[in-house]
Amino acid sequence: MTPHLAADPKAGAAVKAADRAHVFHSWSAQELIDPLAVAGAEGSYFWDYEGNRYLDFTSGLVFTNIGYQHPAVVAAIQEQAGRLSTFAPAFAVDVRSEAARLIAERTPGDLDKIFFTNGGAEAVENAVRMARLHTGRPKVLSAYRSYHGSTSTAINLTGDPRRWASDSGNAGVVRFWAPFLYRSPFYATTEAEECARALEHLEATIAFEGPATIAAIVLETIPGTAGIMTPPPGYLAGVRELCDRHGILLVLDEVMAGFGRTGAWFAADHFDVVPDLLTFAKGVNSGYVPLGGVAISAAVADTFATRPYPGGLTYSGHPLACAAAVATLRVMAEEKIVEHAAYIGETVLGPGLRELADRHPSVGEVRGTGVFWALDLVRDRETREPLVPYNATGEANAPMAAFAAACKKGGLWPFVNMNRTHVVPPCNVTEAEAKEGLTILDAALSVADEHVV
Ligand code: PMP
Repeated sequence: MTPHLAADPKAGAAVKAADRAHVFHSWSAQELIDPLAVAGAEGSYFWDYEGNRYLDFTSGLVFTNIGYQHPAVVAAIQEQAGRLSTFAPAFAVDVRSEAARLIAERTPGDLDKIFFTNGGAEAVENAVRMARLHTGRPKVLSAYRSYHGSTSTAINLTGDPRRWASDSGNAGVVRFWAPFLYRSPFYATTEAEECARALEHLEATIAFEGPATIAAIVLETIPGTAGIMTPPPGYLAGVRELCDRHGILLVLDEVMAGFGRTGAWFAADHFDVVPDLLTFAKGVNSGYVPLGGVAISAAVADTFATRPYPGGLTYSGHPLACAAAVATLRVMAEEKIVEHAAYIGETVLGPGLRELADRHPSVGEVRGTGVFWALDLVRDRETREPLVPYNATGEANAPMAAFAAACKKGGLWPFVNMNRTHVVPPCNVTEAEAKEGLTILDAALSVADEHVV
């Protein structure tokens, strides 16, 4: 019997009981949730104490880009722990310098200085602070369909309804509509029209807010949690041009899309656009130890050449996190994992998901690239009415819950958000695993089809 099938329900029950008693879970009504007790994980799979194994089509929270327990990364963390397990941020530490060098080598353009954080939200907070200090301007523009994290400024920049409860009116945040042809805010019918109207709308927003008051435009290069909405050709170049014209900084948030997920090192590489600041986290070290950061252009870094940057974090560039990053980035290069993600997207997931859409009326649209896909599930393909009310804030949602349950029953852990299921396995998911996932999704979509009108 393989270790993951060595069921131990008694141990699982004890883990669950302690969790229920003492762990306060994010985004949840504490009494209404029943978290699965996880016994272990390896590669693209994890398993529980009941003997069930799941193909992880969520990559945790879209962070295990090289899968669970990669031996090279585990060994690097162990080696670092034995050698120098922690050190304060104000010192030059070999593994921190090496992680920064490897990240700077991969980020586009002249984004060559790396400020380390413990995750994505802190990266966004610091990018915004840098932009405000660099420009001397107060406002920041962000898109409605977005997620940027759950700390103060990051949650306010977020467009997702999860921000509503925290909307304390963070000074200077202004939201705009970014392009999304399938549910076009601009009543557009072609990509070109959507792009042109979205840029006109942004230009007007900038004019009405006052260009000289705007420090930055913050955008996910390809919005992730909000639905994996690849912008139309020319949109990001247009945003870059508007920023340049008005002295506004472009911050691209690649916390989810970065480090291989889209089949390129960064999603910005697909569009040939270089931001002034790029935020990252998650895939930088596959999430083995918390790490995030901001990649900073030469011009912005210069602002703080002789004037101190007023910001820092106790664990910035933590040696264990940096050791995991160095090992992860080496593994990704050696095993050609970015190229593999592109290959899986082009040859297995893309065609396979489109084929599912052909057969399942509940699939309204398939969107994505690499190992970064979403199925937009609808009640009615004609009207594109979502399988849940569009502004659902997490209340019980029977059709999507039934779909998720069918996935789990089939052995696949799905990433379900509102009316979408995201297909986001590790970047090194094998062809066989990706195909196995498609087969399970096929069966689960039949359950979603029952709710089509
Ligand atoms: N930005 C984006 C694009 C994200 O997807 C996320 C997390 N899902 C964040 C920021 C926040 O990252 P963290 O949860 O590590 O703070």
